[in-house]
Amino acid sequence: MSVQRIASTAMERSISAAQSPGVSDDPSFMAAALEEARAAVGHEDVPIGAVVVRGGEVIARARNRREADADPTAHAEVLALREAGKQVGGWRLADCALYVTLEPCVMCAGAIVLARVPLVVFGAPDPKAGAVISIAQLFDERGLNHHPRWRMGVLRAESEALLREFFAAQR
Ligand code: ZN
Repeated sequence: MSVQRIASTAMERSISAAQSPGVSDDPSFMAAALEEARAAVGHEDVPIGAVVVRGGEVIARARNRREADADPTAHAEVLALREAGKQVGGWRLADCALYVTLEPCVMCAGAIVLARVPLVVFGAPDPKAGAVISIAQLFDERGLNHHPRWRMGVLRAESEALLREFFAAQR
C-alpha cells in the first residue's frame, strides 16, 4: 500500500469517525427507526423500521413494505438506503450511519456493504435470519472489501415487544 493510500485511508477514517453518531446519539435515532416500525403495522407488514443518519441528521427513513408493495426486497434497510442515495446524490454512503430496529438479513447486510455504510446500529438480534451475528457474520467476511462497524441492543426491548405484539395479533 502506498504512503498516499495509507494517508487517504487514515483521513477517510477520521472523517467518518468525526461524523459518525456516538453511543449517546443512538437512542434518539433508534426511536426514529421505531416510529417507522410502528407505522408498518398499518399496512400489515412486520414492524421493522430504519433510518439513515448523516451529519447528525436523519436524511432517510423507511419501514418494511414487503406486503404493502408485494415486493420481496422491500425491507426497511433497502428502502432507507435507496432514499439516502437520492438525498446524497450518489450510491456511496460512506459518511452515513444506518439505524434499524432488527438485525439485518443477508440481503440488507449485503446492501449495507455495497453502499459502504461505515456504521450500523440495530436493536434486537434476529436468530432466524440475522446476518451480522446470528446465521451469518457478513460484516466480518474476510472476502468482502468493506467491513461496517456495528452496535447492537439499542432500544432492544421496545423492538422485541413490537414484534411480539404483531405476531400475537396475527394468531
Ligand atoms: Zn432485510
